[in-house]
Amino acid sequence: MKDIDSAHILRLEDMLTKASNIVVTTHMKPDGDAMGSSLAMYHYLKAIGKDCRIILSDPNPPTLDFLLDENTRKDLIIYEAYPISAASAIKDSDLIICLDFNAFHRTDTLEPLLSEAVHPKILIDHHLSPDSGRFSLVFSETEVSSASELLFHILMHTDNIAHDASRIPAAAATALMTGMITDTNNFANSVYPSTLRMASALLEAGTDRDMILQQLYNRFTESRLRLMGHMMKDLLKITDDGVAYIVLDQDTQRRFHVKEGDTEGFVNMPLSIDKVVMSILLKEDNDRIRVSIRSKRGYSANQCARAHFNGGGHENASGGRLQIGKDLAGIEEASEYIERHTHTFMKRYNG
Ligand code: 5GP
Ligand code: MN
Repeated sequence: MKDIDSAHILRLEDMLTKASNIVVTTHMKPDGDAMGSSLAMYHYLKAIGKDCRIILSDPNPPTLDFLLDENTRKDLIIYEAYPISAASAIKDSDLIICLDFNAFHRTDTLEPLLSEAVHPKILIDHHLSPDSGRFSLVFSETEVSSASELLFHILMHTDNIAHDASRIPAAAATALMTGMITDTNNFANSVYPSTLRMASALLEAGTDRDMILQQLYNRFTESRLRLMGHMMKDLLKITDDGVAYIVLDQDTQRRFHVKEGDTEGFVNMPLSIDKVVMSILLKEDNDRIRVSIRSKRGYSANQCARAHFNGGGHENASGGRLQIGKDLAGIEEASEYIERHTHTFMKRYNG
């Protein structure tokens, strides 16, 4: 990562000093990094005496419940369940901090509220192409593992923390470590020297990595593992272009009692096959199909997501969506859609 600009830190500290009521928000379907970076920001702000609310478009996956204590739950507002409270919290705030997304549309239902809010907004993000014009202050860095890692380095530069990780509130440190671990797939992808410096500093400061791993990876249901077996044995298809894909329809999700977060990480697995260069998971979700894309080095998941799946993200880890009734008539057309579109996309590599 590049050095953190000290003028940006001064500006941040000045904005925090002037604000007393701060809203923290992140992208829809919040994952470990979204929750980790938001909760870390929240705990830091509480520690310096600010009022703070976290606004989410929809609930966090149950796998991340361990990050929430009773007080935090009171300050967490889910728009889907409490739209009026969420809207007034945004309206009544004097500063909005946005984490782990590059443009307001990634917050789904919160987009109009955030776009219309007139208060200063800060962006802290690690995606390509941030919509910088919409923010008063932008921390954007793609050469880091996660928004949580970027926030860690920002906090280290503040006067309060002063490069001593043990001064980061313990709950914030746990949240930051969780966000980094989930976005790197437990130190498998997007690990930079700065990522290991963060891990090292947090471990030294006492963050309990074993507890985090136990919570994240050893508390699933039996049916989730059986679903994984079914997906890899019966649903995985591989095209002649080296594109692996899995279509997970709602019927199968019901049969295996799939909850939000249960398929996290499955999209990476087909990349373990030598001939596979890109892996795509399609998950049916009412009127839309959620798309996850992962690619090997030299192949752009981001370009594929942008060109064919109404999405974007990082170079080798992206996502998007297909609208049922617009992009395709129904989930039964998904295989044909993927084969046709990825064949077109892969021509840029295969000539
Ligand atoms: P995942 O596959 O884990 O849901 O998402 C992988 C990456 O793609 C994340 O960094 C996420 O921000 C990005 N992403 C997922 N869905 C979308 C989408 O609908 N639009 C855009 N622009 N990015 C997405
Ligand atoms: Mn992230």
